Amino acid sequence: MYSTAFLDLPPLQAAAGEVHLPGSKSISNRVLLLAALSRGTTTVHDLLASDDTRVMLDALRQIGCTVEEAGSTVRITGLGDRSPQSPAQLFMGNAGTAMRPLTAALALLGGEFELSGVPRMHERPIGDLVDALRQLGCHIDYLGNDGYPPLRIAHADGVPALALASPIRVRGDVSSQFLTALLMALPLAAGTHSIAIDVVGELISKPYIAITLQLLARFGIVVEHQNWQRFTIAAGSRYQSPGDIHVEADASSASYFIALGAIASSTSGQNGIKIQGVGLDSIQGDIRFVDAARAMGAVVTGGPNWLQIERGAWPLKAIDLDCNHIPDAAMTLAVMALYAEGTTTLRNIASWRVKETDRIAAMATELRKLGATVEEGADFIRVTPPTTGTGTAGPPRCASASSGGSEPSSAGSAGAPSGWKAASIHTYDDHRVAMCFSLAAFNPAGLPVRIEDPQCVAKTFPDYFEALFTLVQPSAPAPVICIDGPTASGKGTVASLVAQRLGFALLDSGALYRIAGLAATRAGIPLEAAHAQHIADLVATLHIVFTPDQRVLLGAEDISLAIRTEAAGMNASRVSAFPAVRQALLQLQRDFRRLPGLVADGRDMGTVIFPDAALKVYL
Ligand code: C5P
Repeated sequence: MYSTAFLDLPPLQAAAGEVHLPGSKSISNRVLLLAALSRGTTTVHDLLASDDTRVMLDALRQIGCTVEEAGSTVRITGLGDRSPQSPAQLFMGNAGTAMRPLTAALALLGGEFELSGVPRMHERPIGDLVDALRQLGCHIDYLGNDGYPPLRIAHADGVPALALASPIRVRGDVSSQFLTALLMALPLAAGTHSIAIDVVGELISKPYIAITLQLLARFGIVVEHQNWQRFTIAAGSRYQSPGDIHVEADASSASYFIALGAIASSTSGQNGIKIQGVGLDSIQGDIRFVDAARAMGAVVTGGPNWLQIERGAWPLKAIDLDCNHIPDAAMTLAVMALYAEGTTTLRNIASWRVKETDRIAAMATELRKLGATVEEGADFIRVTPPTTGTGTAGPPRCASASSGGSEPSSAGSAGAPSGWKAASIHTYDDHRVAMCFSLAAFNPAGLPVRIEDPQCVAKTFPDYFEALFTLVQPSAPAPVICIDGPTASGKGTVASLVAQRLGFALLDSGALYRIAGLAATRAGIPLEAAHAQHIADLVATLHIVFTPDQRVLLGAEDISLAIRTEAAGMNASRVSAFPAVRQALLQLQRDFRRLPGLVADGRDMGTVIFPDAALKVYL
């Protein structure tokens, strides 16, 4: 994960390869709660590791569930017939998928609970759910503003008698999570009578309700619905663990890679992008993003558990689409619209305004920064791409090597200037804003794109940028910054700090010579000119790793200290004088070059190793 203040994406051109996506957030948090409410132990496989599942797991432990974690597999022993531990103060971060269903479930389980979150969570509505629960007879108080978290469930003396005889009414037009929350909580109260829920207003995001119903069925709860308006939970419903359950990969996360396949040209010899973990018969509504991407020109094939995407129409085709069925993934369409011929309109997306941030305002603001013309309304967004400068939105061309600047430029466009602008994308603590705007780095103007606060992707996809970087090819080789200077000038310290700030890889070339000296000495090879080739051959076989926490590994051995002795420094100087050794280390050093960039320190970095470096500093 990149925890830098910003991440600069150099201009990108092509992409190919295979990506394994993390588990779906929506499925992960539903499964966790259902397992917690069930009798028996559930082994959850492929659980998403993210901020939102973390807060859910922590809360479940607090209320008395046994949670054992082993990588992406988590075993949860549910409450069954036990009461939750209370009182408890539960912190929900910015996880709507934890806040809403837990509020409903805890209100029906009894006990005293305070649920709070980050400041943005306290601006996300929960009033319609609380109204529905109060209608039932639950005692819930707002601790801040009416209608919003934080809140207190005041059932210290157990759950009051619930008014279950007539249908419970809940609004469905603000967030489908209110209905999901009731659907997951009310089976706890289903005794000898069935329970009915009536949706008031048009139900938005029906596909998320479909996921809820599918998962409820896996945990033994049958819910019938009439036209998505009345939902009926059968009398005598009881949660029963299914034993094992697998979490599908996140279909919304797939949207970035589907878009990538549609936008990027293939790298030579490889055809497009293959996505593992989610396929065409996914239970997630966002899988229908595939249809929207196809309408814009993507060529998508797939099976039950995989998708394959290639670029089809280019430029992409503009669309006018009701996106109510794919609210999250539709943000990706707004960025794809930058590569379309004409104006794209995404409709029926009012729910964007009450997500992690006001997503309509956020997308409009950031798309404009890139040069797009954007119109926004209460429930739609309309995007016209920047002019490309050459009259057509041709495939991204190779940029000149002089990338990395943040000044708007129309580099290379003959004739009319390009309307594309280099931009620093504000991400509003919204993972999806950060992920979808990374695709702007394919702009035909060859401009870099800065993503602010890249670690916000941790909400659903902590290694998103790493995954992206394994697939894409930059228009020019990844940027390199060379830092050199005399002994004890502090070049190593400066290089390491610069690399940390930029999220760049670090090449400490001196360490390589030190390792060469150490390895040769250990192998019993005299450090003499007559043995230079022998040392060079040895160097070519070494497996060297610089870890993010500044350790140096040779094979599996940590040699950080061994190469820092005075003797190691002298041995380094000796072997560094042999041209054969310098030659052997040449390619090794060049292999450190990678996205998003490299900081390289040491002698001849800017002259021999990376003569094309974007920036060369001599201290
Ligand atoms: O920078 P450091 O002290 O770790 O480098 C060890 C030795 O390796 C230097 O004294 C120098 O002789 C050699 N070296 C080199 N070329 C580089 C880096 C280091 O010859 N790029």
